[in-house]
Amino acid sequence: MKIKSANFVMSNSEVSKCPNEYLPEYAFIGRSNVGKSSLINMLTERKHLAKTSGRPGKTQLINHFKINDNWFLVDLPGYGYARVSKKSKKTFQKYITNYFEQREQLVCSFVLVDIRHEPQPIDMEFMQWLGENGIPFCIIFTKADKLKPAVIMKNVHGYLQKMTEDIWEEAPDYFVTSSSKAIGRDEVLSFIDSVNEE
Ligand code: GDP
Repeated sequence: MKIKSANFVMSNSEVSKCPNEYLPEYAFIGRSNVGKSSLINMLTERKHLAKTSGRPGKTQLINHFKINDNWFLVDLPGYGYARVSKKSKKTFQKYITNYFEQREQLVCSFVLVDIRHEPQPIDMEFMQWLGENGIPFCIIFTKADKLKPAVIMKNVHGYLQKMTEDIWEEAPDYFVTSSSKAIGRDEVLSFIDSVNEE
């Protein structure tokens, strides 16, 4: 997919106020600092489309970007940031669960995980919740440039194995990416293209 246009449309915390245009929507979510903003900028080839987090946990809103006038990229807040208060964690959880439960345009979510880390309970629980609610998702492993190819394979297989051991009958689709080296860009965009064409 060639990115001809990528425009910020709006930010808000209520699913009812999200754009009412009925375009397919792809959501990006993950722990704070996982590299989500960098990935969005890499995918869209726009350096500053998503704000990379100087202060993780700051962007607590649902951000809609319209891509090529025919789909929305949705940047969801990073979760699991320790410095966020209990109260704002609750509010956050509520509008994120509302978004996933109510947004009919949502076609697929990308759950980002840092390729260097062992499976984290917060990510596992979140993916389990998506599964239980019938919300399709893929995993995007980020920061692959930080590891050697053999370690990348080992970590990816270890991660997927842990998922299938614990809860899942089969592992989800996944992508290995690096925003600093533009790895995985074509794969993610081709996947979105192919789903849009279905
Ligand atoms: P967000 O909080 O998930 O939006 O994460 P950011 O995109 O702001 O990135 C968090 C930190 O990880 C920043 O210091 C980035 O420079 C770094 N980072 C993000 N993606 C990559 C990547 O692909 N490779 C490397 N080496 N660092 C990355």
